[in-house]
Amino acid sequence: MSKFWSTMAKRAVPYVPGEQLNRNILKLNTNENPYPPSPSVLEAINKESNRDLRLYPSPTMDELRESIAHEYGLDKQNVFIGNGSDEVLAFSFMAFFEPGKAIRYPAITYSFYPVYAKLFNIDAEEIELNEDFSIKAADFFYSEGGVIFPNPNAPTSIFLPLDEVERIVKKNPNTVVIFDEAYVDFAEESAVSLVSKYENLLVIQTMSKSRSLAGLRIGFALGNEHLIEALIRMKDSFNSYPVDRLAMAGAKAAIEDTSYFQQTTKKIITTREWVSEKLKQLGFYVLPSQTNFIFARHETITAETIYSSLKAADVLVRYFGKKPIDNYLRITIGTDEEMEVFFKKLSMIVDK
Ligand SMILES: *Cc1c(COP(=O)(O)O)cnc(C)c1O
Repeated sequence: MSKFWSTMAKRAVPYVPGEQLNRNILKLNTNENPYPPSPSVLEAINKESNRDLRLYPSPTMDELRESIAHEYGLDKQNVFIGNGSDEVLAFSFMAFFEPGKAIRYPAITYSFYPVYAKLFNIDAEEIELNEDFSIKAADFFYSEGGVIFPNPNAPTSIFLPLDEVERIVKKNPNTVVIFDEAYVDFAEESAVSLVSKYENLLVIQTMSKSRSLAGLRIGFALGNEHLIEALIRMKDSFNSYPVDRLAMAGAKAAIEDTSYFQQTTKKIITTREWVSEKLKQLGFYVLPSQTNFIFARHETITAETIYSSLKAADVLVRYFGKKPIDNYLRITIGTDEEMEVFFKKLSMIVDK
């Protein structure tokens, strides 16, 4: 800290992302996709990598907005695109939440929400989950300042069914309800189908997980055109070009290659199911996952011990080390081969 810092710089409590180690490790700690992006994405980026890079990219991103709108049966005016969904989330906090009016999110959730709340001076009510870590919809009715949570929730991996989601939207007619659907492609269904029905619903998705493009930084929001307009106002007060030419070209190709996306998503879900079963056989309590990761604790061995022993064996998983999830590990689903390696190392630690 220094006397030159603004109160905002002093107030900030930055998010700490999962470790990125350089050595050759099995990386199951940041929910990246184990499969490469669609070949058409790489082709599109190569093609776009030309002398036009001297020119600014489109500030309105109309072409990519059209593609995304088409994919979800919406109009361009219902789509906002940002530099990763984290940026879209930050703009959403600025556009829809107000200092002095408390927002609600679950007590166990994506740890970026408290970071934004603090940065933008927004009060938050952290709502306790049920004993089994599921979300009680009624606890989110009639919020003062708005609602935000991931569905499926992170890091619990649990999905809240769409009828419950809709009840939360209905019971907050005067505030914005945001569902962060970073993992929804691995789950039952998205709330996108409700977007044209409710003016207070914002759905945020990312290409980082199911589209294998964490490195490209593309996230987007789907909602009523008046909500989208507010997001555009925030973006245009901050950076005219948060999404570059290469990212836009790659993202367009990714959205259009539905069959590759469906294949890789299905493979991850299939792997997730056998990995869950096998973890249970090894003495883990495993939450019912609808994501590309698993949240689990061992019956007798502490999460910290398992985390450090795996790390020593060159396998990285995510350990949060704070109550009440200090005995849980978050394990990203890799390829079948990677998960075989994971189990080989794990069985040396938890053998029974
Ligand atoms: C990964 C993740 C994001 C961020 O995704 P980016 O688009 O890579 O910024 C947002 N919300 C949740 C819940 C996530 O897990």
